[in-house]
Amino acid sequence: MTKEQAEKRIQELSVLLEQYNFEYYVQDNPSVEDYVYDGLMQELRKLETDFPELLSPQSPSQRVGGTASNQFEKVSHAVQMQSLQDVFDFEQVSDFVTRCHEVFPEAEFSVEPKIDGLSVSLEYHDNQFVLGSTRGDGFTGENVTANLKTVRTIPLTLKLKEKLPLLEVRGEVYMPREQFFKLVAQQEENDEQPFKNPRNAAAGSLRQKYSEITAKRKLDIFVFNLQRCEGKEFASHSETLEFLKDAGFHMIPGWKLCRDFEEIKNAIEAIGNSRQNLPYDIDGVVIKINNLEQRTLFGATSKTPKWAIAYKFPPEEKETTLREIEVNVGRTGALTPVAVFDTITLAGTSVSRAVLHNQDFITEKNICIGDRIIVRKAGDIIPEVLRSVSHAEQAVPYKLPECCPVCGAKAVRDEGESVLRCPNISCPAQLHKQLVHFASRDAMNIDGLGTAIINQLLEQKLVSDPADLYALTVEQLLTLEGFQKKSAENLVNAAAKSKTAPLDRVIFALGIRNIGQKAAKLLCDRFLTLDALEQAEKSEISEIEGFGEIMAENFYTALHDKSVQNLLAKLKAAGLTLQYQKQEVSKNTFFSGKTFVLTGTLSQMKRNEAKQRIEAAGGKVSGSVSKKTDYVIAGEDAGSKLTKAQDLGISILSEAEFIEKL
Ligand code: NAD
Repeated sequence: MTKEQAEKRIQELSVLLEQYNFEYYVQDNPSVEDYVYDGLMQELRKLETDFPELLSPQSPSQRVGGTASNQFEKVSHAVQMQSLQDVFDFEQVSDFVTRCHEVFPEAEFSVEPKIDGLSVSLEYHDNQFVLGSTRGDGFTGENVTANLKTVRTIPLTLKLKEKLPLLEVRGEVYMPREQFFKLVAQQEENDEQPFKNPRNAAAGSLRQKYSEITAKRKLDIFVFNLQRCEGKEFASHSETLEFLKDAGFHMIPGWKLCRDFEEIKNAIEAIGNSRQNLPYDIDGVVIKINNLEQRTLFGATSKTPKWAIAYKFPPEEKETTLREIEVNVGRTGALTPVAVFDTITLAGTSVSRAVLHNQDFITEKNICIGDRIIVRKAGDIIPEVLRSVSHAEQAVPYKLPECCPVCGAKAVRDEGESVLRCPNISCPAQLHKQLVHFASRDAMNIDGLGTAIINQLLEQKLVSDPADLYALTVEQLLTLEGFQKKSAENLVNAAAKSKTAPLDRVIFALGIRNIGQKAAKLLCDRFLTLDALEQAEKSEISEIEGFGEIMAENFYTALHDKSVQNLLAKLKAAGLTLQYQKQEVSKNTFFSGKTFVLTGTLSQMKRNEAKQRIEAAGGKVSGSVSKKTDYVIAGEDAGSKLTKAQDLGISILSEAEFIEKL
């Protein structure tokens, strides 16, 4: 590589790594896996080593990645909160040990799990907790004392006989995995973007404006270093760990003192093997010189100490046998192949299935049933099939079925698409999902009609399309398991009530591909009646703002499909009113022309109602926070969107303030 090429690549890598740092440290929402980031950082370091004249002090390789946000008061760290030099194989660990032993042949090492959370400093004056801060860029962090006080394992008063004028420790705040899964389930229920992994959840939860929210997130901490102490002397790190434990801190568990590379390697392997059974995430092992005087002599670079390294675990991968490929049929008829393999434990959870996307993916990886395959699960929740390592005897390349596995209709593949679809709208697999969608809250909102009842209705052949729901009688429902007179009447009434749903919700309820709530509303705003919609030309539909030609074509074709036409005729006959009243948008209100984002749970109205009222008052509602957002309306348990808004300095309205404005 020439110097010019290296310079260009260094520039590209720096821009990319800065962007990833911002997403990871400031937004708590990374867009790439850690191993991708680490790979780019290694490439940058290598180029800077090969061309030292191109190394700039501003390079991401020279700086701790975070910055303190304006949301919190800033704190200057008396002892710089450094990062660690990463290594990725045992050879590099051995080199480190050799380097240390060349200077101090007797040097011992503390080998500790590397907790995957966020680094904080805790400062005590006269044994009282007075200041807690994040790492930030290592020199300046954020004052998050109030939020740290909600972490129950942080002692507010030290359990010491003597009074120490000053003590500062460093630890890792983390979210236990079980708590993370609960939080993600809750965020999904609230229609919030869920955190990607426990580390981001811990960072997002600690950097909250309101400590009540942090308290609910049930964070924990492991303390791993003594930063400063007045009134007591220590000779080694291991001594400080024992002392801090007695002082009441929740200390880093599973650390071990080792003398040479062999012992260190064994300790790393033992920590690696215990990883699956730990209730929290670790992403590596830290190896540190134990003697504090030796540490001082080794010193540090601008970013990392020279007396420690972090051995990073590769993303967890395991080999297993592919037993079967299941083909699922989605609501819109998409046939999705799913690999079913012998259960393995990855990143602490049991895994036996992974999505195989489509035929191109399977062909490219040459996957056959019976293969030994490698499955990987990195920080994220979704496992992936990486590759096939060996075929079974007489293995044949897998081909997706030509017909829908549920109804037998010939599957089609649209031009330019990689997905195979079942075109039969009455396919039972689609029908089940179609009914669930039709009855859902944002569509026809038929209260009480859930998946289990739909299963029974299909089994008993009481419905063969959504319109049949309106013909159900109390007597028929009473023949189903679990129905009493009252619940049967309630369901019949709920269906009857939904007949007056406005036309845009009926259009959305049809479940036409790409026609979500917003598109359905735009269609109705433009054409107002079902008749006008049915008579509309493709070109008229594609003229609607937000509609492209493909979307217009899809909608036009679906609407004129015989099965959809029959369904609409049945719905009309069942008494659906199919009315639409274009909302007159109020002008000159507080909401006019502004963009709002809703987050958390509102106690006085459902999110949908809040959205409609904002739109009726002239505002726009968006699903994600950006610089274009004017206000974020934060209900109970608001999460990442609120944090992001705070970071971007966007105004926040509480539910009470929002209602007052309405
Ligand atoms: P790091 O996470 O690799 O290591 C340093 C941190 O380890 C310290 O700040 C400390 O808090 C923590 N730690 C945990 N247990 C410890 C122990 N027992 N002893 C000492 N320290 C311990 O470094 P970093 O600078 O915080 O982050 C860099 C890493 O973050 C990258 O390697 C990458 O994996 C990840 N990252 C990912 C993205 C992304 O977009 N995915 C972006 C930026 C950073």
